[in-house]
Amino acid sequence: MDIFKIFTVEAAHRLPNVPPGHKCARLHGHSFRIEIHVSGEIDPATGWVMDFADVKAAFRPLYERLDHHYLNDVEGLENPTSERIAVWIWDRLKPALPGLSRVVVHETCTAGSSYSGPAAGG
Ligand SMILES: [Zn+2]
Repeated sequence: MDIFKIFTVEAAHRLPNVPPGHKCARLHGHSFRIEIHVSGEIDPATGWVMDFADVKAAFRPLYERLDHHYLNDVEGLENPTSERIAVWIWDRLKPALPGLSRVVVHETCTAGSSYSGPAAGG
């Protein structure tokens, strides 16, 4: 079973490594929609995989570091593409949320990235 909770993070960024003239080089903002997925068995007593409130609590410290921040200033997000944001969240959230199975970062309504952890063996 896979459950998920969605958070909205308002943040600004620019991409430093895009080709000259690329629109993403300019400072701009997004309402990032971030999905945090957790996999596990359904607990026979509670009927759920885990309490959504616990997902929210685990993500809270990271949310505080991202929401209404200039992402390029966040340590580890010097090149804050949606791919890098997904990995950044995964690396910091996994210890607090062992069932974490996927991080999806929607940068716009139609574009985003999905990360389910490092490839096996690598
Ligand atoms: Zn952007």
